Amino acid sequence: MTSDCLFCRIVAGEIPATIVRETATTLAFRDIDPKAPVHVLVIPKEHHADVATLGQADPELAGQVLATAAEVAEAEGLLADGFRLMFNTGGHGGQEVFHVHAHLLGGAPLGPMLA
Ligand code: IMP
Repeated sequence: MTSDCLFCRIVAGEIPATIVRETATTLAFRDIDPKAPVHVLVIPKEHHADVATLGQADPELAGQVLATAAEVAEAEGLLADGFRLMFNTGGHGGQEVFHVHAHLLGGAPLGPMLA
């Protein structure tokens, strides 16, 4: 937990969030500014800045983030039509919150990523 990290504070219950799934090591909650009918953020509870550092430091935890994302996708009814799962990483990746998070987006056709 780092006290100046927004998502660590959500994990700690200090900032409210609409939580859709919680495991021992991960948390999934709705994005405050949704970009699709379903927009959920999936994070490890432990602080890691981005997916590159998480993937190198703890690949098992990275896999648990993916498993939670898949469970949320199923619970939200996204498996039949598909969804997008993405990690913005660093400045060029457009990352604004430096606690690694997967964006799970779906519920409507999203179009090509790099159109
Ligand atoms: P990034 O640009 O990949 O870092 O995405 C950060 C995301 O966090 C954005 O989609 C924001 O809308 C979202 N966000 C920021 N603050 C909150 C919050 O307090 N609760 C839920 N989502 C948030």
